[in-house]
Amino acid sequence: MKRVYLLLLALLVLLGVPFSAEASSFGDRVEGLTEVTGVRVSSSQDRTRIVVDAKAPVSYRTLVLKDPGRIVVDIENAWLSPKVTKELSVTSPFVSRARIAQFNPSTVRVVVETTVGKDNYKVFPLKGGAVPGRVVMDFGSVGPSSAGATIALPDVKPAPQKKPQPKPETRPQTKPEAKPQPKPEVKPQPTEVEQTAEQTASDTPSQSPAQSEADAGIEAITGLAGRTITIDAGHGGNDSGAIGPTGVTEKSVTLRVALALQKLLTSEGATVYMTRTTDTEVSPKGANASDIEELQARCDVANQHNSDIFVSIHMDSFTNGAAKGTTGYYYALGSKRSRDLADKIRSGVIDQIGTSSRGTQSCNFYVVKHTDMPATLVEVAFISNPSEEKLLSSEEGAAKAAQGIADGIADFFG
Ligand SMILES: [Zn+2]
Repeated sequence: MKRVYLLLLALLVLLGVPFSAEASSFGDRVEGLTEVTGVRVSSSQDRTRIVVDAKAPVSYRTLVLKDPGRIVVDIENAWLSPKVTKELSVTSPFVSRARIAQFNPSTVRVVVETTVGKDNYKVFPLKGGAVPGRVVMDFGSVGPSSAGATIALPDVKPAPQKKPQPKPETRPQTKPEAKPQPKPEVKPQPTEVEQTAEQTASDTPSQSPAQSEADAGIEAITGLAGRTITIDAGHGGNDSGAIGPTGVTEKSVTLRVALALQKLLTSEGATVYMTRTTDTEVSPKGANASDIEELQARCDVANQHNSDIFVSIHMDSFTNGAAKGTTGYYYALGSKRSRDLADKIRSGVIDQIGTSSRGTQSCNFYVVKHTDMPATLVEVAFISNPSEEKLLSSEEGAAKAAQGIADGIADFFG
């Protein structure tokens, strides 16, 4: 739907047809800016780490402010996705509070209230991996100081915290092919604190000690909090999926499991997007959508929300009712971590519902092939098998399966 709208908009522009000011002003605001898509916090006994995710490598400045002590990181030529949590709850001896906001039209500001001295924090960029632009902020025991460290400055007046930009009403196109590397035209507006900033390079050499340490240390970011996860309940609406011996439909089982899973993940602090939450098709064309359109609509949910992972839930079926067990599927040419995700979710399900394992297998299923992040399709059990149909059609069985998938996801994120 969105893509069609954007194409239409592009056509109108080409034809010189005026279009709504709202669409144009939002487009103008984010033109050439990199989207900041998330911020995550993890704490261990001796360190708190805050990671800011962006869609491309970003430049930033680090400032030190006093009373209260704050480390400020201004990410330049960037805009903050409305889905990002603005206030982060932090329970740590090093950091008391952290927040993120659109500071001015082209700067995203992260403010961390901290009492640590200048030798006890470090800010550095991290390239590569699933998220192309990451800025890592470590507080506490940060190891030897590096090029990324900043210098404490005396008595700097805090800059006024401007209100974040109003929430945009339209989402920008997030398809990678539609978003070339931005060439910012907007210069960051000079601010009061800018002159006190020690500038920090956007690109550290790839061999920098900070980076290799961070590559090793990135595993320290654990848990579900701050993750963006898209859950796809297989089939729906006109398409019932497979039907069990007593008439239980696959679409009803996948939805029940998906809704239970949504609850579990949300309660752990993940942001969850559902391809559907009722018995319906996902494509705006409804029952008139082609198979591909319907499946692409499911991929769009994950891709447009820049999800960290995509999980599609299905029930297996076979002509022989004796077939049983759980299978994890992944696309071998997709994200390198898809296999691991498929494996862990399959194991989690088996541990919870006691099904036999049919292994983790590569496949060509559309939804795992056309999603841009680690993706898996799990065949939870066989709806054609009378006892597995019975198990999964019960509220309790579905809840257990959901718990198994959640366990697998938590295991995946470490
Ligand atoms: Zn299915």
